[in-house]
Amino acid sequence: MDDGSDCLVLKIILVGDSLVGKTCILQRYIDNTFDHSYMSTIGIDFKVKTLHLNGRFVKLQIWDTAGQERFHSISTRYFRGAHGLLIIYDITNALSFDNVTGWMKDVNANAGENVDRVILGNKCDLEETRVVSKERGEKLAWECGVHFFETSAKNNINIEKAFSALVEGIMNKS
Ligand code: GDP
Ligand code: MG
Repeated sequence: MDDGSDCLVLKIILVGDSLVGKTCILQRYIDNTFDHSYMSTIGIDFKVKTLHLNGRFVKLQIWDTAGQERFHSISTRYFRGAHGLLIIYDITNALSFDNVTGWMKDVNANAGENVDRVILGNKCDLEETRVVSKERGEKLAWECGVHFFETSAKNNINIEKAFSALVEGIMNKS
């Protein structure tokens, strides 16, 4: 976790079904922008954000999956060395919510059961087409023993909070 200097490097991974908003969440967190026309490309990409926490620098290396999640074929290597995961569904897509359990299993098998995780119900700005209640999200997260937030990458709701909760959880362990 430590790279030798006084800078901690944390590997964070975004998982969840295709189109739930992973790339938009990352873009919002890193650049504070939202781009409707974002095109996914096949490959794995990460972005870096440096935080100053409790008197030290923490470098977040945040990995986004671009396309592979469609085939549920994310390579095991991708999860190696992960400190934290955001598992994301779309509140307007029931299947993406049902698949959270599957993603959780993948994560347990590949990243280990001790890796910190937070569940996000994204697109909470789309109240009129919501199909997954907030209560169902909260219940699932409670059963998994993890934090939960409803987010909107579009309207910048709870994005910062979700990453902070994850990082805090990781830091409290180390
Ligand atoms: P990914 O496949 O999980 O990376 O999903 P993307 O980030 O590419 O987003 C998929 C689609 O959902 C795009 O059309 C986005 O504009 C849209 N989207 C992402 N986040 C939000 C959000 O918070 N609210 C709304 N209304 N749309 C979103
Ligand atoms: Mg994407």
